[in-house]
Amino acid sequence: MSYDFDLITIGAGSGGVAASRRAASYGAKVAIFEGDRVGGTCVIRGCVPKKLLMYAGQYRDGFEDALGYGWSLPSSPTFDWKNLIAAKGREIDRLNRTYHNMLEKAGVTLIPSFARLIDPHTVEANGRRHTAHTLLIATGGHPVRPDVSGGDLAITSNEALELSTLPNRIIIIGAGYIAVEFAAIFNALGADVTLMVRGDGLLRGFDADVRSALSVAMQTRGVKILTGAQPAAIEQASNAFLVTTKDGAQYAADLVMAATGRAPNTSGLGLETVGVATHPRTGAVQVDLNSRTNIDSIYAVGDVTNRVSLTPVAIAEGRALAETLYNNNPMQVSYDNIPTAVFTSPPIGTVGLTEEQARAHNKTIDIYRTAFRPMKNTLSGRDERTMMKLVVDSTDDRVLGAHMVGPDAPEIIQGVAIALNCGATKKQFDRTIGLHPSAAEEFVTMRDKVS
Ligand code: NDP
Repeated sequence: MSYDFDLITIGAGSGGVAASRRAASYGAKVAIFEGDRVGGTCVIRGCVPKKLLMYAGQYRDGFEDALGYGWSLPSSPTFDWKNLIAAKGREIDRLNRTYHNMLEKAGVTLIPSFARLIDPHTVEANGRRHTAHTLLIATGGHPVRPDVSGGDLAITSNEALELSTLPNRIIIIGAGYIAVEFAAIFNALGADVTLMVRGDGLLRGFDADVRSALSVAMQTRGVKILTGAQPAAIEQASNAFLVTTKDGAQYAADLVMAATGRAPNTSGLGLETVGVATHPRTGAVQVDLNSRTNIDSIYAVGDVTNRVSLTPVAIAEGRALAETLYNNNPMQVSYDNIPTAVFTSPPIGTVGLTEEQARAHNKTIDIYRTAFRPMKNTLSGRDERTMMKLVVDSTDDRVLGAHMVGPDAPEIIQGVAIALNCGATKKQFDRTIGLHPSAAEEFVTMRDKVS
């Protein structure tokens, strides 16, 4: 049986591009279908533009802190949202071109169209059929709004990155990654931000000390956090949006943003036609440890599989697949000790088990924790503390988890994640000489168990 291609990938985001390039580098004939811009959620409407906006917000701290270090500013700095969004747009355009070039250099054929499955070896796009020995679904996900009356009035992170003006008052529904990151951005850029949280606090599933440290820091910076507030309806009044919660309270703002999770992009893909199994509740494409669906020739990687929805995980899944199929190098992704960051102010870095998870696994653990005023905050007078924590297995001394809220936490935790993946013990952390003066050195100098 001969096919047009060895591999057809649907979706040119992080996972699809990684798999396609790696496969092509081993000589596979690859086509990738993308009906939107190349780069996917992370590059076009996620991690990258979000982080650029976060940098914009950090200048506020810089201006404020500079005074304590002998600087005086000629006049109060002003900020222009339109200029920021335009500059961000230019950078995303550049990255989009870079992705095009990368695919071209790798010898991957980019077909700028959405595609749908016709049979286990065929896709259709613009009325034309294309065949391949292997099909890869890498279509990512999209934000979901709460299913309440007027839910459609809320913007999502997609629109938040393209707003023509910065709102004066914004209500953000949710308490996950996207909610807290955008709350931090809008707050830093001058908006009045309210986080509407249905649970008891921010970032459910994170270590309790991380959650409370972030909560304190955000509230000190002026973000209002409403807990136990479940939205029941959103409506548009003459000069504001009104959000009514289940208990009948009403809150007004110029803009409402839903950051209430994401769902896999599966509609219109023809999955039912071909019989690709999806998860009954989430709709995610179901795969095994090799990213293979129930149909032998069809694979899926990244957010569409709803395993761990993080860019580096999608990339690792895509590369592992290409290694397995095209380099005779069978590879599976390890989902242990995946470090993750939340780009708030201050940011969070975390890897491994939280204290709560370790206890739930019946581990006997020791907890080391420190909270201190970072050196930069001395002269600036900024009243914000850094929190760092280690969760250690007391039976074999292995470090099970490392958590930090404070400047540079994401940069620091990436290195600590290597140690955890090597199975490092607390003694080995302690034997490591600290890098002075830094906050990072606290991870190798924590001596006293707090519990
Ligand atoms: P999350 O799953 O992280 O958070 C969703 C939030 O919305 C939770 O607080 C949830 O509450 C709340 N929620 C869900 N439904 C409702 C509802 N009907 N009414 C009120 N609140 C609701 O999703 P995000 O959208 O923040 O992010 C999606 C994923 O994207 C993340 O899980 C992450 O994998 C990835 N991401 C990673 C980033 C990073 O690495 N820095 C940045 C941004 C996204 P509850 O907790 O009670 O369920």
